[in-house]
Amino acid sequence: MDPYPLGEPPRLDVKRERQRSVDQRHPWLFDGALRNPPKNLPAGCVVELVDHRGALLARGSYNDASRIVVRILTFADEPVDAELIRRRVAQAAAGRRMDAETTAWRVIFAEADRLPGLIVDRYGEWLVVQILTTGMEVWREPIVAALGELGARGIHERSDSEDRRRNEGLSPQVGWMAGEPVPERVVVREHGLEFEVDLAGGHKTGCYLDQRENRAAVARYCAGQRVLNAFAYTGGFGLYAARAGAAQVTHLDGSAPALELCRANLERNGYADGQEYQCADVFKALKQYQVEGGEFDLIVLDPPKFAATRRQLEAAQRGYAGLNQAALRLLAPGGILATFSCSGAVDPELFWRLVADAATGARREVQILETLGQPADHPVLASFPEGRYLKGLIARVVE
Ligand code: SAH
Repeated sequence: MDPYPLGEPPRLDVKRERQRSVDQRHPWLFDGALRNPPKNLPAGCVVELVDHRGALLARGSYNDASRIVVRILTFADEPVDAELIRRRVAQAAAGRRMDAETTAWRVIFAEADRLPGLIVDRYGEWLVVQILTTGMEVWREPIVAALGELGARGIHERSDSEDRRRNEGLSPQVGWMAGEPVPERVVVREHGLEFEVDLAGGHKTGCYLDQRENRAAVARYCAGQRVLNAFAYTGGFGLYAARAGAAQVTHLDGSAPALELCRANLERNGYADGQEYQCADVFKALKQYQVEGGEFDLIVLDPPKFAATRRQLEAAQRGYAGLNQAALRLLAPGGILATFSCSGAVDPELFWRLVADAATGARREVQILETLGQPADHPVLASFPEGRYLKGLIARVVE
């Protein structure tokens, strides 16, 4: 795909009343913001956005198959080319500072690193890439070349995210990109804990790197406690809880393969005792515990994204409310709820309100002890609050 099919980038007029978001450096331009939307402009081509006087505002990638018709790559008067991509990749990589105890982190986080549509995660010696938009697809070669400078043994692609198909109509693309073929499983360290990660079939690029600091935060409450690690996936919060000296950890997830890896991860780190693994639907299991009179001192709720789009928001709200209510009912007096939402459509204020309503519904009074968000390798552009998708609350049931 050629980013300049017409030679010069087409100049597109931004409606005067819609210019504000560009002035404020928001990286998305929605359909309807262009004065004369072009016809038959190939998706992925570079365009120039100009104001009503014809002055340059920004340059970005065009795609009228998406609601976001232009994804802005630069607000400066600089060429959009392979060199810009190389510079951005190098800058993003240089900005990540991890300690020696952590060998997996996000190297490139899309808009936040001014590379909309591009995600790159590092798992030890390996890089895993997601290209999520047509606008980024056209830069595939320079991306791989730039990533080649980061000293990885091999680069693997996992562009099989549902977003790619739904938002951009792109088919999944998975496999070798450069260097040595990436092994299906790799072992990485996170705050000194070892995790085996399924790079071939794991969620996202392999696992949930974004919860790293939140796992450490929750661990501080786990010593001596009976912990329920709901939506356990491959261990995550439960492994941290075990290390922190939890009396007992129940790892609950609906996926048997995830739980198998969860158990392997606990055992690999020397925590075979005091662990229970339950393969069940969390909603049903919470009800069942209640019927049986079960009780926990600390419950982690880290469900998958309930609202992928604004339209699913209402159902998502009911999901969060019901889940949190059921968990709050199961907590011993003084117990801790560590609850998360990774739905971008649910903002932190709404999430707070949902948890507050859940407490009311469960007839429990709770204190919020900590509000949690994203780690530094998942930064948020000041001008792009949409990038702030992960939020969490640590709450205590007041006796
Ligand atoms: N807490 C994990 C990440 C959770 S990802 C970590 O720290 O790494 C979400 C997990 O929820 C997945 O493992 C998925 O299998 C599980 N899941 C999704 N819906 C579920 C449901 N209704 N019941 C049980 N598990 C579910």
